Amino acid sequence: MKLGRFIVDTHVHSQRFAPGKDSFKNAKAKGHLSYNDLAAVIATAEPYDNSDRLLFDMDCYGVDMCVLLPAFGMTNELNLALVERHPDKFVAVCSATETLQKCRDTGEPWSAKAAAEELDKLLASGKFVGIGEGLPTDHDRLTTTSQTDRLDEMRPTLEVARKHKSVVRVHSGVVMGYPLTHHFWPETLHPMWLLDIAQEYPDVPIVFDHGGVQGGASERFFEQALLVAGANDNVYLETGLWWPELYEKALRDPNVGPEKLLWGTDWGASIPFHSQPGQVPSEYAVQLRKQPPPQHQVDVWGWALRQLLRLNIVQDDLNLILGGNAARLFGLTLPLTRLFRPVGRDVVPQSGQVNNDG
Ligand SMILES: [Zn+2]
Repeated sequence: MKLGRFIVDTHVHSQRFAPGKDSFKNAKAKGHLSYNDLAAVIATAEPYDNSDRLLFDMDCYGVDMCVLLPAFGMTNELNLALVERHPDKFVAVCSATETLQKCRDTGEPWSAKAAAEELDKLLASGKFVGIGEGLPTDHDRLTTTSQTDRLDEMRPTLEVARKHKSVVRVHSGVVMGYPLTHHFWPETLHPMWLLDIAQEYPDVPIVFDHGGVQGGASERFFEQALLVAGANDNVYLETGLWWPELYEKALRDPNVGPEKLLWGTDWGASIPFHSQPGQVPSEYAVQLRKQPPPQHQVDVWGWALRQLLRLNIVQDDLNLILGGNAARLFGLTLPLTRLFRPVGRDVVPQSGQVNNDG
């Protein structure tokens, strides 16, 4: 049975990398391929369109629409090409990829101002529904970044989002295999840092990518993200890698509830699952450092939808999590009006209250 009447995955990567054999010289010397090797290569490797598998999975699991995100070396152009081929199935958020590439090509220092200017141009095209994955940053930075410096880097992007009435996505949670540092996205380890930004920009909707859980069984970042969402009307949580107990905690919270949750799984990421039957959680996403990165397309939707199946909640609430909140925040075009129950007290960025027209 399809789990909701209109299902949207708000966190999808339709691009993959096929690094050449030479790229993995270090791995060959060591005798095995690690996530660090993969992370080093995907920053600069040429991405390719992986939408055949994505469309197959959408058909398989009844996912109606996806929000496409560029990440690391992925491009806005490849995502837009897919949106143009299937405007009923895809929308895209944008990232300041050219600013980063220019710094790599010229050796010039990365700047938050230049990244915000690129985002301003991209959003002015009217082709993108938000900013992400995560806030712009210098992905090549190898020094520790302070809270004050990082918040100052965020503000130019929040100004651009405010100007265009757009959604901003902030990365949270860890994945355990890729390098874990305070270098380029320190907020991923400190969701609470966003309290200041959320208060300074109450008119800008902020979505925590992964809702604090990208990989591993730690609830530390989930707890912080939940607190920020509960204390700010403009902060939302992506849920796709949550297990049932995390959904239940967010749904019980009177300041969060189903209206602030968006299903989004990181489809396309190289994150396998680990199972520990009889424990909580019984399975969870995590990069396994003793094994090489997965070669196959990990079936994240099968797992993520089964977590929702374990929840005892009314269908109209589940429908909000699975698509209604995404439609409202990203201004999605729906096949019909009145599919979702109205939600009040939201910061709604797009003109079309498509679900709320009485
Ligand atoms: Zn992602």
